[in-house]
Amino acid sequence: MKPIQMVDLKNQYEHIRDEMDQAMEQVIQQTAFINGPQVREFAGQLADYLQVEHVIPCANGTDALQIALMALELEPGDEVITPDFTFISTVEVVKLLGLKPVLVDVDPRYFTLSPDKVREAITPRTKAIVPVHLYGQCAEMEQLMELAEKHGLKIIEDTAQAIGADYYRQGKIQKAGTLGDIGCTSFFPSKNLGAFGDGGAVFTRDPDLADKIRTIANHGSHQKYYHTRVGVNSRLDTLQAAILKVKLAYLDQYSRARQQAAAFYDQALAGIEQLQLPQVQPHSSHIYHQYTLVLSDQVQRDDLREYLKDRQIPTMVYYPVPMHQQPAYQIEESPAKGPFEVSRRLSQKVLSLPMHTELDQEQLQYMTDTLKKYFQS
Ligand SMILES: *Cc1c(COP(=O)(O)O)cnc(C)c1O
Repeated sequence: MKPIQMVDLKNQYEHIRDEMDQAMEQVIQQTAFINGPQVREFAGQLADYLQVEHVIPCANGTDALQIALMALELEPGDEVITPDFTFISTVEVVKLLGLKPVLVDVDPRYFTLSPDKVREAITPRTKAIVPVHLYGQCAEMEQLMELAEKHGLKIIEDTAQAIGADYYRQGKIQKAGTLGDIGCTSFFPSKNLGAFGDGGAVFTRDPDLADKIRTIANHGSHQKYYHTRVGVNSRLDTLQAAILKVKLAYLDQYSRARQQAAAFYDQALAGIEQLQLPQVQPHSSHIYHQYTLVLSDQVQRDDLREYLKDRQIPTMVYYPVPMHQQPAYQIEESPAKGPFEVSRRLSQKVLSLPMHTELDQEQLQYMTDTLKKYFQS
């Protein structure tokens, strides 16, 4: 059996090695390492794939979120709603820009922002909602968009984990990240569309926002050495764009490989009552950036992880500490907004299994058999 890894980027590369090497070689020959033609080509292809007008590449997913927020031109102290259970980026950029992160608990089934709790958290100072499409499926966008419309809020979608997922809305299919005002993604190597280094992108349908985003990402400048606003330096390297151009063509195939692995896990683990398997919200497809279980109260997570590790099965905890408990943020629990009951429990009880495009039947069989054995003993 091939060794089991959380993510297997090496074997993924082996299948497309010729194309990838050729794309990289071409960039090296051209030496246009910054803003080379591949950057624009990739942005165009991603725009076609997402069916969105404007794609602005940038240096990483966290920058994408920061640039998107800067483009909204909010005032210091304005409130931005974002989930308590997620990766740090959304909270970090809100705070960095002098805005106020308002953390909201997540849905216990889907692990994404709870629309009911968002409703309770809205105040006259709320200006934006930043839902995170966690683990590969969309947040409940329909309800969030209704709330946003009613209260005049902007929506920035963090689709770093859900690039390529579909959302079904009013009889139409739209790609994750293209429903709200702005979408943000990351091309961190282990993401579903991953580069060989850092990368990110911001997308929108709105031409005015697109112009602001493009300017902000380029030192606040339309024309070299003339600066009309305060910006940042955030670019996607040409080499990364060339790599991503090749991999974008495989994204749907990669999503299907992940879905097949997830279906295997689902079927094999269905009988184990100590495990809550991933649930898919009815308006979204799931492209399984992670396959994440919730363990029941009796299960000792560390003990299970140790057992699996001894049998060469790696696991990860995404994420062990909810945002409100992070020492850098120390955000008060507000009784009115609920005590973050779900995010606290999830941080104690979630466990992600290996999930990538290269898992084979033998590995999946071995992993699920081993899990079954643990729960039988
Ligand atoms: C990976 C990730 C980010 C940040 O992306 P970087 O490219 O590492 O900055 C933001 N949000 C979520 C949900 C992520 O998974």
